Amino acid sequence: MIDTQLLMPTEESIQLAAQLLERGQLVGFPTETVYGLGANALDPEAALSIFAAKGRPADNPLIVHVAEPEQLEPLCHVNSTALKLMDVFCPGPLTMILPKKEIVPMEVTAGLNSVAVRIPSHPVARAMLKACKLPIAAPSANTSGKPSPTSAKHVMDDLKGKLPLILDGGECEVGLESTVLDLTSSVPTILRPGGVTPEMLLTVLEEVRIADSILRPLQEGEKALSPGMRYKHYAPTGKLTMVRGRPENVAGCIRRHTEAAKAQGQKVRILAFDEHRDMYSGLESVSIGSLNQPQCAAQKLFSILRSADDDSIPLLFSETLPASGIGLAFMNRLCRAAGFNEIDADAGEE
Ligand code: AMP
Ligand code: MG
Repeated sequence: MIDTQLLMPTEESIQLAAQLLERGQLVGFPTETVYGLGANALDPEAALSIFAAKGRPADNPLIVHVAEPEQLEPLCHVNSTALKLMDVFCPGPLTMILPKKEIVPMEVTAGLNSVAVRIPSHPVARAMLKACKLPIAAPSANTSGKPSPTSAKHVMDDLKGKLPLILDGGECEVGLESTVLDLTSSVPTILRPGGVTPEMLLTVLEEVRIADSILRPLQEGEKALSPGMRYKHYAPTGKLTMVRGRPENVAGCIRRHTEAAKAQGQKVRILAFDEHRDMYSGLESVSIGSLNQPQCAAQKLFSILRSADDDSIPLLFSETLPASGIGLAFMNRLCRAAGFNEIDADAGEE
C-alpha cells in the first residue's frame, strides 16, 4: 500500500504529477470524458503497472494521450483522415486508432500493431501533459469492470493505496469514455461510441461505419474489433434492467416490478427522465436529466451506478434513450451495465 494524495490542481501539484510520471509512477487525473490513470507510455514497466493497479486484462490496449498534434508524429502514422478529424475534434473526446511506430511498447498496445491516441481538452489534463512532455498511457481510473470514474472520489474509492497522486478536477463534463474510431480500416469505424457522435463525424467524413456489436453482446466465438468490447463492463453490483417502450407503458411496467420487489422487502432504484418522474411517485427514482438533454443522462450515468453500489441497491430499472447522437454512447454503456437485460414494455406482460 502506498499513501495516496488527493490534491486540487495547482501549479505545484501539476509539477508533482509531471515528476511522478517522469519517474514511471501512476497519476490519476481528470479529463473531459472520465478520470484517467496515467503512466509514461514509452516505459513498458510503467504501462504494466496500470494493468496491475486496475486488474485490467493484459490484452486490452491503452489509449495514449498527448497535448498537441505534433506529439503524435513519433508515435504513429498520421494519415490525411486523421489530420482532417483533428482540425475539428481535437482537443476533445475522440480517440483515433492508427498504425503504430516502433517507439510505442507492445505492453501499451497489448501486442497490436496499431495504437489508440487522443488529445484531451480538459485544462488539468492538458497542463499535466505539457508539464511532463511525455505521451501518457491512460485508461479509465477504475477497477476493471466497474463503472468508469467521473469524480476524484470515484478514483479514490477504487484505487486508494495503489498510486501516489490523484488530481481533483471536479466532475467530468462528458461522463462517458471517448469515441474510439478505427482509422486503419478502409472505412473509418466506430469501435466505441462516445462524446463525438457519428452525426458529428459525418460532418467531416464521407462515410462512417459503426461496429455492429455496439448495441448487442458479442456472439460465441465472434472476434472483437476492439479488445475492450470482449469484457463485462460498467456493471453495478445490483441487477439492472432496461425497460423500453412508450413512456406510460415503461412507467407501468417498472411500477409493477418495483412494487412486487418491495413487497418482498427488496430495495429498488429507478433511473428516470425528469418528464416521467411523477409517474413513479411514492417509489425511489433518481433523475437522469431531461429528455431534451441526453448529454445530461450520459454525464450522470456512471455516478448513479456507483451510488447504487454505495447504497447496496440490489435492483435497478432504467428508462432508455433513442440510440442516436449521444444516445448511442449512453445506450452502449447502459446495455453493458445491464448485461443486455431488457424488457419491452409495449409487448404486453413479459
Ligand atoms: P479505456 O482506456 O478503458 O477507455 O479503453 C480503451 C478502449 O480502446 C478499449 O475498448 C480498447 O480495447 C480500445 N483500444 C485501445 N487501443 C486499441 C487498438 N490499437 N485497436 C483497437 N482498440 C483499441
Ligand atoms: Mg475503461
